[in-house]
Amino acid sequence: MSSNEEIFDFIIAGGGSAGCVLANRLSEDPSNRVCLLEAGGVDKSPLIRVPLGIMFLIDSKVYNWLYHTSEQGNASNRKIRIPRGKTLGGSSSINGMVYSRGHPRDYDEWVEVAGCKGWSYAEVLPYFKRSEHNETFGDDPYHGKGGPLNVSNLKKTNKLVDVLFEATDALQIPRRDDFNGAEQDGVGYRQVTIKNGKRHSAATAYLDPVKHRPNLTIMTDATVDKVVLQGKQVTGIEIIQAGERKTINANREVIISCGTIISPNILMRSGIGDPAVLKQHGIEVKHDLTGVGKNLQEHAAANVVMKSPSIMSYGISVRGFPRLTWQLLDYIINRVGFLASNVNEATVFSRSLPGLDRPDIQLGFTPALRTSTGRKVTYGHGVSMNASILRPKSRGTIGLTDADPFSPPVIDPNFFSVEEDVDTMVRAVKLARQIMSSPSFEPHRGEETKPGKNVQTDEQFAQYVRENSATVFHPVGTCSMGTNDEAVVDPELRVKGLQGLRVIDASVMPRLIGGNTNAPTMMIAEKAADMMLGKPPLPVADI
Ligand SMILES: Cc1cc2nc3c(=O)[nH]c(=O)nc-3n(C[C@H](O)[C@H](O)[C@H](O)COP(=O)(O)OP(=O)(O)OC[C@H]3O[C@@H](n4cnc5c(N)ncnc54)[C@H](O)[C@@H]3O)c2cc1C
Repeated sequence: MSSNEEIFDFIIAGGGSAGCVLANRLSEDPSNRVCLLEAGGVDKSPLIRVPLGIMFLIDSKVYNWLYHTSEQGNASNRKIRIPRGKTLGGSSSINGMVYSRGHPRDYDEWVEVAGCKGWSYAEVLPYFKRSEHNETFGDDPYHGKGGPLNVSNLKKTNKLVDVLFEATDALQIPRRDDFNGAEQDGVGYRQVTIKNGKRHSAATAYLDPVKHRPNLTIMTDATVDKVVLQGKQVTGIEIIQAGERKTINANREVIISCGTIISPNILMRSGIGDPAVLKQHGIEVKHDLTGVGKNLQEHAAANVVMKSPSIMSYGISVRGFPRLTWQLLDYIINRVGFLASNVNEATVFSRSLPGLDRPDIQLGFTPALRTSTGRKVTYGHGVSMNASILRPKSRGTIGLTDADPFSPPVIDPNFFSVEEDVDTMVRAVKLARQIMSSPSFEPHRGEETKPGKNVQTDEQFAQYVRENSATVFHPVGTCSMGTNDEAVVDPELRVKGLQGLRVIDASVMPRLIGGNTNAPTMMIAEKAADMMLGKPPLPVADI
């Protein structure tokens, strides 16, 4: 071994939602030497800690990779923004802090459709519970108490959420206290990964408490280029840190946890992937695995936005300045209010057609004026609903620009390549408008800026969707788990046909779940850690 080579039992590439969980669980046993490699820097910033910091993190050049899709032919040729976290905690350090698991049937389908034995909801629920400390529901059969990740309800919400509830009551949309319980349909408050008014990222929850373990080495500003293969055995990883290329060796396993966008790129640069794709970039084919980078799925979403003459909403304005000042003080003194909010305070899960077995759309409610496609709150007051499709049928790909690890990936979600996705989005946007047209919103009604009064027919709604949809930042599926030919990892998350290599992150989800993806990714890492350590699975939940 040369002087710039190091050796560990487990090497984890990527210190995001999955990577932080793995670093914690794999280093619990002091005899395991664990190395966590993160391309970004440390996560010590008030923008990350204070929940309202999401408004700035979405554009941050320091904490966000700021990717874009390729031109989306079915979305008026736009390049759509794809933010991803670039720091310890990964995307959980810049995300919207919503705690949501999707629908139980989503996991059962992983088993039924993709052959992912062991991943039914009753089998994964114990891992959701192990990761969770739910301040509100910790004692019920669906929730955990005492786990590392703090889940809470916002201590104070904007009064416009009550107006939303009046509107949905009038439409007979049921109230739902807990979207992560037995039923998902309905309207209710969000659960959030916030503790005492501060973001609880994967790094805060899992890494900070254990980072001083002598058997855990955390390297930041370390860009993983590729894995090292000897035949079909993975023996280590090549990184670039401070301009220097190093090899780090693994006695037992290398784990790729760089997320849905970059994990397939690392496999491809290593010579693992579709030979046709690798040859285009002059990469020697070491292991033929055609599914790498395919099966990309993402939630498309479009906003309905209405200005308001009242200053009840969150927002910046001259009239609202005294209120904003109070909000600031309320945060400093009590850790509640606008600054402690993820701003997306309530949501609706709904079935947009009769006969569906679970909700197919989600309408996130923000008591603030938003830009048409963006997540940002703009100057002024108003309300917004972010209408999204939960299980899109369109499938896309992740590719390489070239073999340089510092080149951005080629991201093509292929939005709306299946027409049915547009139809579902149209129904979602129309329901959001129907809710916001309710008499309850009358005192707060100003101009509808999006879609706007000129959008009335289904054709106009469809055009609005194609011209304005963005994403809700939940890409999955590009190193898909399963037993079919396109699967990249088996149900134990081992890369098919190789020894000593797993992929563990959101990329392994064979199908996008009908909810947000942070908690499911952390659940995947919790379960995978047990598999790697040879522990028996937790007892199946009795639900
Ligand atoms: C803006 C935004 C808002 C979101 N809102 C929510 C929400 O409210 N609720 C929710 O549940 N989900 C939300 N999500 C999605 C959720 O956060 C992600 O699904 C989840 O964090 C994915 O975890 P991961 O481990 O797969 O990847 P990540 O957490 O993205 O981790 C990947 C890590 O790998 C690192 N990395 C990348 N390339 C390399 C390399 N070459 N070498 C070394 N390290 C590398 C990255 O810097 C990153 O730290 C949001 C995401 C974003 C971006």
